[in-house]
Amino acid sequence: MNRAESERLSAMMEKCGFSPAGTPEKADFVLLNSCVVRASAENRVVNKLAYLGHLKKSDPEKVIALTGCFVSDDTASLKKRFPFVNYFFPAGHAPRFDEAPAPETGCLPARAGISSFIPIIQGCNNFCSYCIVPYRRGREVSRPLAEIVTEAKTLVERGAREIILLGQNVDSYGHDLDGIPDLSRLLEELNRLDGLERIRFLTNHPKDMSSRLIRSMASLEKVCEQLNLPVQAGSDKILAAMGRGYNLARFMELVSELRTTVPGVAITTDIIVGFPGEDEALFEKTLKFLENTRFDAVHVAMYSPRPGTRAARELADDVPAAEKSGRLKMVEALQARIAMEASQNLVGSRVEVLVEGRKKGKWYGRSRSDKPVFFEHNENWLGKLASVKIEHASSWSLVGSIDNEY
Ligand code: SAH
Ligand code: SF4
Repeated sequence: MNRAESERLSAMMEKCGFSPAGTPEKADFVLLNSCVVRASAENRVVNKLAYLGHLKKSDPEKVIALTGCFVSDDTASLKKRFPFVNYFFPAGHAPRFDEAPAPETGCLPARAGISSFIPIIQGCNNFCSYCIVPYRRGREVSRPLAEIVTEAKTLVERGAREIILLGQNVDSYGHDLDGIPDLSRLLEELNRLDGLERIRFLTNHPKDMSSRLIRSMASLEKVCEQLNLPVQAGSDKILAAMGRGYNLARFMELVSELRTTVPGVAITTDIIVGFPGEDEALFEKTLKFLENTRFDAVHVAMYSPRPGTRAARELADDVPAAEKSGRLKMVEALQARIAMEASQNLVGSRVEVLVEGRKKGKWYGRSRSDKPVFFEHNENWLGKLASVKIEHASSWSLVGSIDNEY
């Protein structure tokens, strides 16, 4: 989400006559986009700000602006703490640099990449007990369907071949709009766009994902067989304390519905380790759950209390830091093994790769299941679909060669 917003902000600034300086040292104007979803992210913002304050001492004309979720409602105390910052813009409300008013949904013109992001819904109504997002990004606001389709068309005209629809909870898309369009409706419209090859969306919520969406994934040929379905914990006790609104039985039901309806679907998930009250036995349940479910990838984070959230107010952060990082490493090691086994199974098979560019001296792209794939070839494959026969596999990427028989 932040990467997409940063890209949009820089595209807009360039359109208004700014040009990239390359480094903050050389820039006349620095706009810092911030994330505070975890304490570690927030610390990085604070360190970056301290460095910018230091630069400003020797270059007092430098203008510094801060946006993203670090900007809380209490701008008075932010101003006091960072007096060298000239402007504070709340997340999704950075100004239009051409001085038109900022649109309510915070959606700005995008720069087209072969794979391009489109935000479809801002904010979140869920208030999971650990999460700061609803406090900093506000309640859900969907973008009108027609506006999204028009933006997708423009991006495709400018060279996009894949669209990734973004939202904290894409399954909530449209409930606040006239006619209540849903994500499936949006996918149907986008599936008709000539020149567009692939559609993905991020992130789903197990409490809200519908059978209708699963059927759309299966029937719409441009929608890739891949999604992120964050489970967060492997025990009903912790899920209830997190206020996630589903139990493991429901989650497993969804996973099996997905796997039967959408053959070969790749499912990734998010896990928080060290949530308050997660003793060793409960953590073991998470490991067991991951072992049994066999996700394609797991994004794992150590719990950190976030200001203003229910968990920070009501629950003691009772898992020691060393224990949290031990658990994180265990999840990572387990997942590396599972991912390695899954990747090895792909050796010898053919995958369709949308080529995004060159990396490490090879063509690089992703499979429909979102696996990074590398291959060598002397033609120009940029923006094209390649059929690649997989020859080597590691946990996180695949290497192969162009398959001419395809
Ligand atoms: N909307 C998505 C995720 C949003 S936040 C969902 O419902 O899952 C992205 C990820 O950051 C979360 O999946 C969670 O794993 C992590 N995260 C959020 N708050 C956190 C906290 N207080 N401590 C540690 N990780 C956190
Ligand atoms: Fe945060 Fe929960 Fe909303 Fe995801 S669904 S953004 S975890 S409150």
